[in-house]
Amino acid sequence: MILGKYSFGIGDRFSHQGKPQLAALIKAKEQGLDITPVWNKSHREHTIIGTTHADTRKEADDAVAALGWTGPYLVDADHIGLNNVDEFIEFSDFFTLDVADYIGKKADEDDVKSFVQKHKKYIGKLSIDGIDETLNISEEQIASIADKSLVAVQQAGGIYRHIAEAKGADNFITEVSMDETDQPQTPVEMLFILAAIASEEIPAQTIAPKFTGRFNKGVDYVGDIKCFAKEFEEDVAVVAFAVEEFGLPENLKLSIHSGSDKFSIYSPIAGIIKKFDAGLHIKTAGTTWLEELIGLALGGGDGLSLAKQVYAEALSRMDELCGPYRSVIDIDRAKLPDPQEVDKWDGERFASALRHDQSCEYYNNDLRQLLHVAYKVAAEMGTRFYDALDKYEDIIAQNVTENIYERHIRPLFLK
Ligand SMILES: [Zn+2]
Repeated sequence: MILGKYSFGIGDRFSHQGKPQLAALIKAKEQGLDITPVWNKSHREHTIIGTTHADTRKEADDAVAALGWTGPYLVDADHIGLNNVDEFIEFSDFFTLDVADYIGKKADEDDVKSFVQKHKKYIGKLSIDGIDETLNISEEQIASIADKSLVAVQQAGGIYRHIAEAKGADNFITEVSMDETDQPQTPVEMLFILAAIASEEIPAQTIAPKFTGRFNKGVDYVGDIKCFAKEFEEDVAVVAFAVEEFGLPENLKLSIHSGSDKFSIYSPIAGIIKKFDAGLHIKTAGTTWLEELIGLALGGGDGLSLAKQVYAEALSRMDELCGPYRSVIDIDRAKLPDPQEVDKWDGERFASALRHDQSCEYYNNDLRQLLHVAYKVAAEMGTRFYDALDKYEDIIAQNVTENIYERHIRPLFLK
């Protein structure tokens, strides 16, 4: 299976918005832009919500059938490891192998030696098309990168082979992700990690590095935009070089995790992928759930009450809800409104605090992050929440489609 040049990871916590999500990609197609939809969900999300990957598969198949989508589409087993991949195998054709936990684990000395031996020709000055300065690579540097990353890549190899055995190697797409780690990978590290991926014979079509700066869930990028742009451009150049040099799949491209809402870096990303004629996989941070809340609030009545209740409860359980997401959110408690104040809001006021429109005076970055992790509260409401999703389906759908198309696809691919 070959992944198209542009693909969009549409995570959907409650598996209810497949159709309006796909509608955004249909709008893109009407503009002549082919983007492959990829419905992604992780073990963690399934566990918190009480869904399985069969639900995600059904959501994708149903949306595609209902809207008559004839292009390719995929279902992503997001951030899986050997311990949980089996529950995904039947339902997925895209696997995000998460080996971040293995980065930094000391590699076998002989493995490091033979890796260095195999890549000796890169020692010294190396120039890569698209990177201004010549890279200076030392033997120690290669050894140190190998020492830090070989175990992780070997682990990815193990997961890949396990899936290939069960599904057949041609029946799925492989992503290697290293984003959930502390340190960003430098372009030189990327180069040798890709070399290791090739040696391990993993036909990765996307790779998700950890980039410099903060990729908090559902909100804008925090960091030095120029630094990010330089690193991103070098990564794109390294990927192109690695494809040629190591014989990795020709369509190998970068994957940006928690890529939704990073509005301030969309323009540099768009410019760089255009300049290199590179592909891109962008994974959203499950923010469709926030559009559900916006739709409920705008719907008024019991929809609005439910949205307010989710907020009040999220605030009282903040530590618990933020726990699993500690490294990818930054909430300033002082900026969170009091539930009594929120109670006085009408639907439009609630929606404008939550909707990611930085030009709006009511937009509240902290409230948005808190509600992002509050999907557990809605999951616990069970049928009451699901019934509300059905009751306010139209207004929710409008917001889901508009968010993906106007705020994401347009600035990234159509400007
Ligand atoms: Zn990720």
